[in-house]
Amino acid sequence: MTAVRKNYDIPALRRLDVAHHLPAQQDYKLIEDMGGSRIVTHAEGCYIHDGDGNRILDGMAGLWCVNIGYGRDELADVAAEQMRELPFYNTFFKTATPPTIELAAKIAGLTGGKLQHVFFNASGSEANDTVFRMVRHYWKVKGEPARKVFISRWNAYHGSTVAGVSLGGMKAMHAQGDLPFPGIEHVRQPYWFGEGRDMEPREFGKLCAQAIEDRILEVGPENVAAFIGEPVQGAGGVIIPPEGYWQEVERICRKYGILLVADEVICGFGRTGEWFGHQTLGFTPDLVPMAKGLSSGYLPISAVAVSSDVVEVLKTGGDFVHGFTYSGHPVCAAVALRNIEIIERENLVGKVRDDVGPYLNAALKSLDDHPLVGETRSIGLLGAVEIVADKKTAARFGGKEGNAGPVVRDFCIENGLMVRGIRDTIVMSPPLIISRQQIDDLVDIIRRSLDSAM
Ligand code: PLP
Repeated sequence: MTAVRKNYDIPALRRLDVAHHLPAQQDYKLIEDMGGSRIVTHAEGCYIHDGDGNRILDGMAGLWCVNIGYGRDELADVAAEQMRELPFYNTFFKTATPPTIELAAKIAGLTGGKLQHVFFNASGSEANDTVFRMVRHYWKVKGEPARKVFISRWNAYHGSTVAGVSLGGMKAMHAQGDLPFPGIEHVRQPYWFGEGRDMEPREFGKLCAQAIEDRILEVGPENVAAFIGEPVQGAGGVIIPPEGYWQEVERICRKYGILLVADEVICGFGRTGEWFGHQTLGFTPDLVPMAKGLSSGYLPISAVAVSSDVVEVLKTGGDFVHGFTYSGHPVCAAVALRNIEIIERENLVGKVRDDVGPYLNAALKSLDDHPLVGETRSIGLLGAVEIVADKKTAARFGGKEGNAGPVVRDFCIENGLMVRGIRDTIVMSPPLIISRQQIDDLVDIIRRSLDSAM
Protein backbone atom coordinates (compact mmCIF):
# COMPACT_ATOMS: atom_id res chain seq x y z
CA MET A 1 0.00 0.00 0.00
CA THR A 2 1.37 3.42 -0.90
CA ALA A 3 0.93 6.54 1.22
CA VAL A 4 -2.21 8.66 0.92
CA ARG A 5 -1.35 12.37 1.03
CA LYS A 6 -3.05 14.13 3.92
CA ASN A 7 -4.35 17.67 3.91
CA TYR A 8 -2.99 19.52 6.90
CA ASP A 9 -4.09 22.85 8.35
CA ILE A 10 -0.56 24.21 8.48
CA PRO A 11 -1.25 27.56 10.24
CA ALA A 12 -3.19 25.69 12.96
CA LEU A 13 -0.38 23.14 13.35
CA ARG A 14 2.19 25.90 13.71
CA ARG A 15 0.10 27.54 16.43
CA LEU A 16 -0.09 24.21 18.28
CA ASP A 17 3.64 23.73 17.76
CA VAL A 18 4.35 27.02 19.55
CA ALA A 19 1.77 26.36 22.27
CA HIS A 20 2.69 22.76 23.15
CA HIS A 21 5.67 21.25 21.41
CA LEU A 22 9.24 21.49 22.71
CA PRO A 23 11.45 20.41 19.78
CA ALA A 24 14.90 18.86 20.18
CA GLN A 25 17.95 21.07 20.77
CA GLN A 26 16.13 24.36 20.09
CA ASP A 27 15.74 27.89 21.40
CA TYR A 28 12.02 27.84 22.27
CA LYS A 29 11.73 31.63 22.14
CA LEU A 30 13.16 31.65 18.64
CA ILE A 31 10.61 29.05 17.51
CA GLU A 32 7.88 31.20 19.04
CA ASP A 33 9.18 34.33 17.27
CA MET A 34 9.21 32.36 13.99
CA GLY A 35 5.55 31.47 14.55
CA GLY A 36 6.38 27.76 14.77
CA SER A 37 8.65 25.21 13.12
CA ARG A 38 8.92 24.45 9.41
CA ILE A 39 6.46 21.58 9.09
CA VAL A 40 7.73 18.73 6.97
CA THR A 41 4.70 16.89 5.67
CA HIS A 42 6.00 14.18 3.33
CA ALA A 43 9.03 13.03 1.41
CA GLU A 44 10.14 10.82 -1.44
CA GLY A 45 13.56 9.68 -2.63
CA CYS A 46 15.98 12.49 -1.80
CA TYR A 47 13.35 15.24 -1.37
CA ILE A 48 11.34 16.51 1.57
CA HIS A 49 8.21 18.66 1.23
CA ASP A 50 7.10 21.30 3.70
CA GLY A 51 3.71 22.79 4.53
CA ASP A 52 4.47 25.94 2.53
CA GLY A 53 4.69 23.89 -0.65
CA ASN A 54 8.49 23.80 -0.88
CA ARG A 55 10.26 20.74 -2.31
CA ILE A 56 13.72 20.61 -0.77
CA LEU A 57 16.68 18.40 -1.75
CA ASP A 58 17.62 16.73 1.53
CA GLY A 59 21.38 17.09 1.71
CA MET A 60 21.28 15.80 5.31
CA ALA A 61 19.31 12.55 4.84
CA GLY A 62 17.06 13.73 7.66
CA LEU A 63 19.65 13.82 10.43
CA TRP A 64 22.49 11.81 8.81
CA CYS A 65 20.20 8.77 8.76
CA VAL A 66 17.83 8.19 5.83
CA ASN A 67 20.48 6.26 3.90
CA ILE A 68 18.09 4.43 1.55
CA GLY A 69 15.98 7.55 0.91
CA TYR A 70 12.34 8.27 1.67
CA GLY A 71 9.19 6.47 0.59
CA ARG A 72 10.20 2.81 0.76
CA ASP A 73 6.85 1.01 0.93
CA GLU A 74 8.73 -2.22 1.57
CA LEU A 75 9.71 -1.03 5.04
CA ALA A 76 6.16 0.05 5.87
CA ASP A 77 4.94 -3.41 4.81
CA VAL A 78 7.57 -5.23 6.87
CA ALA A 79 6.69 -3.14 9.94
CA ALA A 80 2.98 -3.88 9.51
CA GLU A 81 3.62 -7.63 9.05
CA GLN A 82 5.80 -7.79 12.15
CA MET A 83 3.28 -5.79 14.20
CA ARG A 84 0.62 -8.31 13.28
CA GLU A 85 2.88 -11.27 14.05
CA LEU A 86 4.45 -9.96 17.26
CA PRO A 87 4.46 -6.21 18.00
CA PHE A 88 6.62 -6.46 21.10
CA TYR A 89 8.42 -8.76 23.38
CA ASN A 90 11.38 -8.06 25.64
CA THR A 91 14.81 -9.64 25.99
CA PHE A 92 14.95 -9.41 29.79
CA PHE A 93 13.71 -12.80 30.91
CA LYS A 94 15.80 -15.32 28.96
CA THR A 95 13.60 -14.49 25.97
CA ALA A 96 14.30 -13.14 22.49
CA THR A 97 12.41 -12.71 19.22
CA PRO A 98 13.30 -14.00 15.72
CA PRO A 99 14.03 -10.61 14.04
CA THR A 100 16.23 -9.55 16.96
CA ILE A 101 18.42 -12.63 16.75
CA GLU A 102 18.57 -12.49 12.96
CA LEU A 103 19.59 -8.83 13.07
CA ALA A 104 22.34 -9.52 15.62
CA ALA A 105 23.75 -12.24 13.35
CA LYS A 106 23.47 -9.94 10.31
CA ILE A 107 25.35 -7.11 12.03
CA ALA A 108 28.03 -9.54 13.25
CA GLY A 109 28.54 -10.60 9.62
CA LEU A 110 28.96 -6.98 8.52
CA THR A 111 31.32 -5.90 11.30
CA GLY A 112 33.28 -9.16 10.97
CA GLY A 113 36.46 -10.21 12.78
CA LYS A 114 36.01 -10.43 16.53
CA LEU A 115 32.97 -8.12 16.60
CA GLN A 116 30.58 -11.06 16.86
CA HIS A 117 28.13 -9.96 19.58
CA VAL A 118 25.43 -7.30 19.47
CA PHE A 119 23.51 -5.40 22.18
CA PHE A 120 20.40 -3.45 21.11
CA ASN A 121 19.03 -0.08 22.23
CA ALA A 122 16.69 2.51 20.75
CA SER A 123 19.00 5.48 20.03
CA GLY A 124 22.60 6.42 19.42
CA SER A 125 22.76 8.06 22.85
CA GLU A 126 21.56 4.88 24.52
CA ALA A 127 24.14 2.90 22.55
CA ASN A 128 26.85 5.08 24.06
CA ASP A 129 25.35 4.71 27.54
CA THR A 130 25.60 0.98 26.96
CA VAL A 131 29.24 1.37 25.95
CA PHE A 132 29.94 3.41 29.07
CA ARG A 133 28.38 0.90 31.46
CA MET A 134 29.63 -2.19 29.65
CA VAL A 135 33.24 -0.98 29.50
CA ARG A 136 33.37 -0.03 33.19
CA HIS A 137 31.73 -3.35 34.12
CA TYR A 138 34.20 -5.23 31.90
CA TRP A 139 37.21 -3.77 33.69
CA LYS A 140 35.72 -4.54 37.11
CA VAL A 141 35.02 -8.13 36.13
CA LYS A 142 38.51 -8.39 34.66
CA GLY A 143 39.99 -7.40 38.01
CA GLU A 144 41.16 -3.89 37.08
CA PRO A 145 38.46 -1.74 38.71
CA ALA A 146 40.63 1.41 38.61
CA ARG A 147 40.25 1.53 34.82
CA LYS A 148 37.34 3.97 34.68
CA VAL A 149 38.51 6.90 32.59
CA PHE A 150 37.23 7.47 29.05
CA ILE A 151 39.26 9.62 26.70
CA SER A 152 37.29 11.46 24.03
CA ARG A 153 37.80 14.52 21.85
CA TRP A 154 36.59 18.11 21.87
CA ASN A 155 33.63 18.67 19.56
CA ALA A 156 32.86 14.96 19.52
CA TYR A 157 29.15 14.17 19.51
CA HIS A 158 28.13 11.02 21.34
CA GLY A 159 24.53 11.86 22.20
CA SER A 160 22.27 13.81 24.49
CA THR A 161 21.85 11.55 27.53
CA VAL A 162 24.00 12.27 30.57
CA ALA A 163 26.68 9.77 29.52
CA GLY A 164 26.36 10.83 25.86
CA VAL A 165 26.91 14.51 26.67
CA SER A 166 29.77 13.65 29.03
CA LEU A 167 31.52 11.47 26.48
CA GLY A 168 30.89 14.11 23.83
CA GLY A 169 33.02 17.21 23.61
CA MET A 170 30.41 19.92 23.03
CA LYS A 171 31.10 22.71 25.49
CA ALA A 172 27.62 24.26 25.13
CA MET A 173 26.09 20.92 26.11
CA HIS A 174 28.49 20.50 29.03
CA ALA A 175 27.46 23.92 30.33
CA GLN A 176 23.86 22.76 30.75
CA GLY A 177 23.75 20.21 33.57
CA ASP A 178 27.29 20.57 34.97
CA LEU A 179 28.76 17.91 32.75
CA PRO A 180 30.87 16.00 31.94
CA PHE A 181 30.74 13.93 35.07
CA PRO A 182 34.09 12.81 36.50
CA GLY A 183 36.18 10.29 34.65
CA ILE A 184 35.93 11.74 31.14
CA GLU A 185 38.96 13.41 29.57
CA HIS A 186 38.90 15.39 26.34
CA VAL A 187 41.79 15.89 23.93
CA ARG A 188 42.21 17.84 20.72
CA GLN A 189 40.42 16.81 17.53
CA PRO A 190 42.33 16.11 14.30
CA TYR A 191 40.93 19.23 12.60
CA TRP A 192 43.64 20.02 10.09
CA PHE A 193 41.99 23.00 8.36
CA GLY A 194 41.09 24.68 11.66
CA GLU A 195 44.18 23.92 13.71
CA GLY A 196 46.97 22.37 11.67
CA ARG A 197 47.38 24.15 8.34
CA ASP A 198 50.94 25.18 9.18
CA MET A 199 52.11 21.57 8.94
CA GLU A 200 51.73 18.49 6.78
CA PRO A 201 48.41 16.73 7.48
CA ARG A 202 50.14 13.47 8.42
CA GLU A 203 52.41 15.23 10.87
CA PHE A 204 49.41 17.04 12.37
CA GLY A 205 47.50 13.75 12.69
CA LYS A 206 50.44 12.28 14.58
CA LEU A 207 50.48 15.26 16.92
CA CYS A 208 46.77 14.82 17.67
CA ALA A 209 47.24 11.10 18.36
CA GLN A 210 50.21 11.99 20.59
CA ALA A 211 47.83 14.16 22.66
CA ILE A 212 45.96 10.96 23.50
CA GLU A 213 49.11 9.21 24.67
CA ASP A 214 50.13 12.28 26.70
CA ARG A 215 46.75 12.25 28.44
CA ILE A 216 46.98 8.51 29.13
CA LEU A 217 50.32 9.07 30.81
CA GLU A 218 48.97 12.03 32.81
CA VAL A 219 45.97 10.07 34.05
CA GLY A 220 47.98 6.86 34.49
CA PRO A 221 47.43 4.02 32.01
CA GLU A 222 46.19 1.80 34.84
CA ASN A 223 43.20 4.17 35.21
CA VAL A 224 42.17 4.41 31.55
CA ALA A 225 39.28 2.24 30.37
CA ALA A 226 38.72 3.28 26.75
CA PHE A 227 39.21 5.80 23.99
CA ILE A 228 36.04 6.71 22.08
CA GLY A 229 35.88 8.52 18.74
CA GLU A 230 33.77 8.85 15.62
CA PRO A 231 35.85 7.60 12.66
CA VAL A 232 34.90 10.91 11.01
CA GLN A 233 33.49 13.47 13.43
CA GLY A 234 30.03 14.41 12.12
CA ALA A 235 28.25 17.01 14.23
CA GLY A 236 31.68 18.44 15.11
CA GLY A 237 31.93 19.64 11.49
CA VAL A 238 32.74 16.59 9.35
CA ILE A 239 36.32 16.37 10.55
CA ILE A 240 38.12 13.84 8.35
CA PRO A 241 41.30 12.84 10.19
CA PRO A 242 44.62 12.94 8.36
CA GLU A 243 45.94 9.67 6.98
CA GLY A 244 47.68 7.62 9.63
CA TYR A 245 45.79 9.18 12.57
CA TRP A 246 43.62 6.18 13.40
CA GLN A 247 46.51 3.73 12.99
CA GLU A 248 48.44 5.76 15.53
CA VAL A 249 45.42 5.89 17.89
CA GLU A 250 45.01 2.13 17.58
CA ARG A 251 48.72 1.55 18.26
CA ILE A 252 48.53 3.71 21.41
CA CYS A 253 45.39 1.97 22.69
CA ARG A 254 46.99 -1.45 22.21
CA LYS A 255 50.24 -0.32 23.85
CA TYR A 256 48.41 0.52 27.08
CA GLY A 257 45.73 -2.20 26.85
CA ILE A 258 42.94 0.39 26.44
CA LEU A 259 39.68 -0.50 24.70
CA LEU A 260 39.02 1.30 21.42
CA VAL A 261 35.45 2.40 20.71
CA ALA A 262 34.43 3.57 17.21
CA ASP A 263 31.17 5.53 17.38
CA GLU A 264 29.67 4.61 14.00
CA VAL A 265 26.26 6.23 14.60
CA ILE A 266 26.81 8.44 11.53
CA CYS A 267 29.61 6.61 9.71
CA GLY A 268 27.95 3.19 9.69
CA PHE A 269 25.92 1.58 6.93
CA GLY A 270 27.71 2.80 3.85
CA ARG A 271 28.12 6.49 4.62
CA THR A 272 31.92 6.48 4.09
CA GLY A 273 31.99 3.94 1.24
CA GLU A 274 32.36 0.77 3.32
CA TRP A 275 29.83 -0.72 5.70
CA PHE A 276 31.60 1.02 8.59
CA GLY A 277 33.88 4.03 8.92
CA HIS A 278 36.57 2.02 10.71
CA GLN A 279 36.76 -0.25 7.65
CA THR A 280 37.25 2.80 5.39
CA LEU A 281 39.86 4.30 7.72
CA GLY A 282 41.60 1.01 8.41
CA PHE A 283 41.48 0.27 12.13
CA THR A 284 39.93 -2.39 14.36
CA PRO A 285 37.81 -1.30 17.31
CA ASP A 286 36.68 -3.41 20.29
CA LEU A 287 33.20 -1.90 20.54
CA VAL A 288 31.10 -0.25 17.83
CA PRO A 289 27.98 1.74 18.71
CA MET A 290 25.75 2.28 15.64
CA ALA A 291 22.26 3.68 14.92
CA LYS A 292 20.78 5.98 12.22
CA GLY A 293 21.58 4.09 8.97
CA LEU A 294 20.84 0.79 10.74
CA SER A 295 17.15 1.38 9.99
CA SER A 296 17.66 4.43 7.73
CA GLY A 297 15.71 6.27 10.43
CA TYR A 298 12.44 4.49 9.57
CA LEU A 299 12.19 3.31 13.19
CA PRO A 300 14.37 4.05 16.22
CA ILE A 301 16.94 1.34 16.83
CA SER A 302 20.62 1.25 17.73
CA ALA A 303 23.18 -1.43 18.47
CA VAL A 304 26.60 -1.96 19.99
CA ALA A 305 28.79 -4.58 18.34
CA VAL A 306 31.17 -6.04 20.91
CA SER A 307 34.31 -8.13 20.42
CA SER A 308 34.41 -11.75 21.56
CA ASP A 309 37.35 -10.92 23.86
CA VAL A 310 35.18 -8.46 25.81
CA VAL A 311 32.19 -10.80 25.88
CA GLU A 312 34.30 -13.71 27.20
CA VAL A 313 35.22 -11.55 30.19
CA LEU A 314 31.60 -10.39 30.70
CA LYS A 315 30.54 -14.04 30.80
CA THR A 316 32.52 -14.47 34.01
CA GLY A 317 30.72 -11.55 35.71
CA GLY A 318 27.16 -12.79 36.18
CA ASP A 319 24.21 -10.61 35.12
CA PHE A 320 25.11 -7.43 33.28
CA VAL A 321 22.29 -5.42 34.83
CA HIS A 322 21.75 -3.07 31.94
CA GLY A 323 19.15 -2.86 29.17
CA PHE A 324 16.02 -1.15 28.00
CA THR A 325 12.38 -2.10 27.48
CA TYR A 326 12.98 -1.60 23.78
CA SER A 327 16.32 -3.44 23.56
CA GLY A 328 15.86 -5.60 20.47
CA HIS A 329 12.35 -4.37 19.62
CA PRO A 330 11.07 -6.91 17.06
CA VAL A 331 9.39 -4.39 14.72
CA CYS A 332 12.44 -2.13 14.65
CA ALA A 333 14.68 -5.16 14.12
CA ALA A 334 12.55 -6.43 11.22
CA VAL A 335 12.69 -3.00 9.58
CA ALA A 336 16.46 -2.77 10.12
CA LEU A 337 16.95 -6.22 8.54
CA ARG A 338 15.00 -5.20 5.44
CA ASN A 339 16.84 -1.87 5.31
CA ILE A 340 20.17 -3.73 5.25
CA GLU A 341 18.80 -6.07 2.59
CA ILE A 342 17.93 -3.03 0.43
CA ILE A 343 21.42 -1.56 0.90
CA GLU A 344 22.86 -4.92 -0.24
CA ARG A 345 20.41 -5.47 -3.10
CA GLU A 346 21.03 -2.00 -4.54
CA ASN A 347 24.77 -2.16 -3.87
CA LEU A 348 24.59 1.23 -2.15
CA VAL A 349 27.89 0.77 -0.33
CA GLY A 350 29.72 0.10 -3.60
CA LYS A 351 27.86 2.99 -5.22
CA VAL A 352 29.12 5.38 -2.53
CA ARG A 353 32.67 4.01 -2.71
CA ASP A 354 33.05 3.91 -6.51
CA ASP A 355 30.53 6.35 -7.94
CA VAL A 356 28.69 9.07 -6.01
CA GLY A 357 31.33 9.41 -3.26
CA PRO A 358 34.17 10.35 -5.64
CA TYR A 359 31.67 12.35 -7.71
CA LEU A 360 30.65 14.46 -4.68
CA ASN A 361 34.31 14.99 -3.86
CA ALA A 362 35.08 16.32 -7.35
CA ALA A 363 31.89 18.40 -7.44
CA LEU A 364 32.72 20.04 -4.11
CA LYS A 365 36.26 20.75 -5.34
CA SER A 366 34.68 22.90 -8.08
CA LEU A 367 33.77 25.32 -5.27
CA ASP A 368 37.43 25.79 -4.26
CA ASP A 369 37.70 28.88 -6.46
CA HIS A 370 34.86 30.66 -4.66
CA PRO A 371 36.08 33.70 -2.67
CA LEU A 372 34.33 32.48 0.51
CA VAL A 373 35.61 28.90 0.38
CA GLY A 374 38.67 27.96 2.43
CA GLU A 375 38.48 24.21 1.93
CA THR A 376 36.12 21.55 0.69
CA ARG A 377 36.45 17.98 1.89
CA SER A 378 34.48 14.77 1.74
CA ILE A 379 34.72 11.07 2.34
CA GLY A 380 32.03 8.87 0.83
CA LEU A 381 28.86 10.92 1.18
CA LEU A 382 29.98 13.02 4.13
CA GLY A 383 31.04 16.47 3.01
CA ALA A 384 31.96 19.93 4.30
CA VAL A 385 32.64 23.40 2.97
CA GLU A 386 34.74 25.73 5.13
CA ILE A 387 33.68 29.36 4.82
CA VAL A 388 36.32 32.06 5.24
CA ALA A 389 36.40 35.84 5.08
CA ASP A 390 39.91 35.80 3.61
CA LYS A 391 41.09 32.95 1.44
CA LYS A 392 44.79 33.65 2.07
CA THR A 393 44.75 33.84 5.86
CA ALA A 394 41.63 31.64 6.34
CA ALA A 395 40.31 34.34 8.71
CA ARG A 396 36.70 33.79 9.71
CA PHE A 397 33.84 36.30 9.66
CA GLY A 398 33.06 36.24 13.38
CA GLY A 399 32.15 39.47 15.13
CA LYS A 400 28.61 40.78 14.98
CA GLU A 401 27.83 38.69 11.91
CA GLY A 402 28.15 35.50 13.95
CA ASN A 403 29.21 32.24 12.38
CA ALA A 404 28.98 31.97 8.63
CA GLY A 405 27.75 28.35 8.49
CA PRO A 406 24.17 29.02 9.62
CA VAL A 407 23.97 32.11 7.35
CA VAL A 408 24.89 30.12 4.23
CA ARG A 409 22.69 27.22 5.38
CA ASP A 410 19.66 29.57 5.48
CA PHE A 411 20.36 30.69 1.91
CA CYS A 412 20.68 27.02 0.89
CA ILE A 413 17.27 26.19 2.39
CA GLU A 414 15.73 29.22 0.64
CA ASN A 415 17.25 27.89 -2.58
CA GLY A 416 15.83 24.39 -2.06
CA LEU A 417 18.64 22.47 -0.33
CA MET A 418 18.76 21.23 3.26
CA VAL A 419 22.28 21.29 4.71
CA ARG A 420 23.56 22.02 8.18
CA GLY A 421 25.57 25.03 9.35
CA ILE A 422 28.12 24.27 12.05
CA ARG A 423 30.14 27.29 13.15
CA ASP A 424 31.87 28.40 9.90
CA THR A 425 31.22 25.21 8.00
CA ILE A 426 28.32 23.81 6.08
CA VAL A 427 28.09 20.06 6.17
CA MET A 428 26.15 17.48 4.20
CA SER A 429 25.31 13.80 4.27
CA PRO A 430 22.74 13.09 1.54
CA PRO A 431 20.88 9.79 1.11
CA LEU A 432 23.09 7.09 -0.43
CA ILE A 433 20.66 6.85 -3.36
CA ILE A 434 21.53 10.38 -4.53
CA SER A 435 22.24 10.64 -8.27
CA ARG A 436 25.05 12.52 -10.03
CA GLN A 437 22.48 15.02 -11.32
CA GLN A 438 21.24 15.65 -7.78
CA ILE A 439 24.84 16.15 -6.59
CA ASP A 440 25.27 18.74 -9.37
CA ASP A 441 22.10 20.46 -8.13
CA LEU A 442 23.36 20.35 -4.54
CA VAL A 443 26.69 21.96 -5.42
CA ASP A 444 25.03 24.51 -7.69
CA ILE A 445 22.73 25.60 -4.83
CA ILE A 446 25.70 25.87 -2.44
CA ARG A 447 27.51 28.09 -4.96
CA ARG A 448 24.49 30.36 -5.40
CA SER A 449 23.99 30.51 -1.64
CA LEU A 450 27.64 31.45 -1.09
CA ASP A 451 27.17 34.20 -3.70
CA SER A 452 24.15 35.49 -1.78
CA ALA A 453 26.18 35.54 1.45
CA MET A 454 28.90 37.79 -0.05
N1 PLP B 1 26.84 9.39 18.20
C1 PLP B 1 26.98 10.11 17.09
C2 PLP B 1 28.27 10.03 16.36
C3 PLP B 1 25.94 10.91 16.61
O1 PLP B 1 26.12 11.64 15.52
C4 PLP B 1 24.72 10.91 17.32
C5 PLP B 1 23.59 11.73 16.84
O2 PLP B 1 23.69 12.51 15.93
C6 PLP B 1 24.61 10.15 18.48
C7 PLP B 1 25.68 9.40 18.90
C8 PLP B 1 23.35 10.17 19.27
O3 PLP B 1 22.34 9.51 18.61
P1 PLP B 1 20.80 9.77 18.99
O4 PLP B 1 20.48 11.17 18.59
O5 PLP B 1 20.07 8.73 18.19
O6 PLP B 1 20.67 9.54 20.43
